Amino acid sequence: MSERIPVMRPWFGPEEAEAAAEAVRSGWVAQGPRVAAFEAAFAERLGVADAVAVSSCTTALHLALIGAGVGPGDDVVVPSLSFIATANAVRYVGARPVFADVAEESGNLTPDTVEAVRTPATRAVILVDQGGVPADLAAMRALCDPLGIVVVEDAACAAGSVLRGRPVGAGAAFATFSFHPRKLLTTGEGGMVTVDRPEVGARLRRLREHGMSVSAADRDAADRGGAAPVLETYDELGFNYRMTDVQAAIGLVQLGRLDAMVARRRELAARYRKLLAGVPGLRLVDDPEFGESNYQACWVLLDTGFPLGRDELLARLAGAGISARRGIMAAHLEPVYADTPHVPLPATERITRDSLILPLFHEMTEAQQDRVAAELAAAAEGAAGAGVGAGVEAAEVRA
Ligand SMILES: *Cc1c(COP(=O)(O)O)cnc(C)c1O
Repeated sequence: MSERIPVMRPWFGPEEAEAAAEAVRSGWVAQGPRVAAFEAAFAERLGVADAVAVSSCTTALHLALIGAGVGPGDDVVVPSLSFIATANAVRYVGARPVFADVAEESGNLTPDTVEAVRTPATRAVILVDQGGVPADLAAMRALCDPLGIVVVEDAACAAGSVLRGRPVGAGAAFATFSFHPRKLLTTGEGGMVTVDRPEVGARLRRLREHGMSVSAADRDAADRGGAAPVLETYDELGFNYRMTDVQAAIGLVQLGRLDAMVARRRELAARYRKLLAGVPGLRLVDDPEFGESNYQACWVLLDTGFPLGRDELLARLAGAGISARRGIMAAHLEPVYADTPHVPLPATERITRDSLILPLFHEMTEAQQDRVAAELAAAAEGAAGAGVGAGVEAAEVRA
């Protein structure tokens, strides 16, 4: 049988390994000069006032909500259709997540779906650029700004996506990014929060390091400069959400590859679109009119008339050596949110039930892509599976 096709694989060259080794050889592996350099390069790329590197996008969301002044008694509107970390971050600050539905074409919140669930206690909205598809931040801010509601952009998937000619996140008071290996740009684990005001960045930078008034790196610099020792104070409750210099060294190399990564993913997505154009019952996610996705997730929605259910199709692909994934999860369907009241969420439930994420990675070959498309086409026609054991696995999923 032919080699298994993964759903995602990070794109590394020898430069990442060398950068990590260089950080180790330098003796400085904790948060230090490479984290500062990564932050500066990221902020410059986005054209934002400041970027603060942290341990993950989850911790970036936590700090962003603190920075936005969200706390107990506040409501925060979130899409249920997102990785669970989006809703969880709201609970970390003691606020209440309020689930809103999404548009079926994009998987993103709209001003209408947010307005439908807004309460007098709504203090913030977390706007997710789902799977890298840019959400309309300007439209959301037009609703929220006059009401004093802060829009936090969860751009975990959207490094390299474009909104009206600017990098996604550029127009946000707070935007958060993930560098987990399931995302394009990876540092193993890691995240970034970008902000539009330098004083907010300075506060988040303290909060990620125990609330310390002077960073360890600044104290070291003062020591080396022969200055009098700088004594730190702890003025508010902080956290240890630091990124390491080993991660940042890798991140700097990866940031330099981001344009190439996005270009390749868009090329492969366009090729999927061509290959699947004649296959009935499948709709491939597309760019909105106001932006360009990085195709972090190349997802397809199955029409109700498709001969196989989503899980049966996943099993069939697995049997053919193709790792696809179920589409984006819906937090309100998970036990941890079973007691959270919510409005009907029909688009969310349809997308989470009927969508799947196709394999797409930088070094994917045309032959691999042809195999995926051929298997999808055969499934749409109800033809027998190409993969040994496909029927068996589908039966197991149904059972
Ligand atoms: C991946 C993801 C996160 C969490 O990112 P981590 O870096 O793993 O914490 C949060 N929100 C969304 C929308 C994501 O896709």
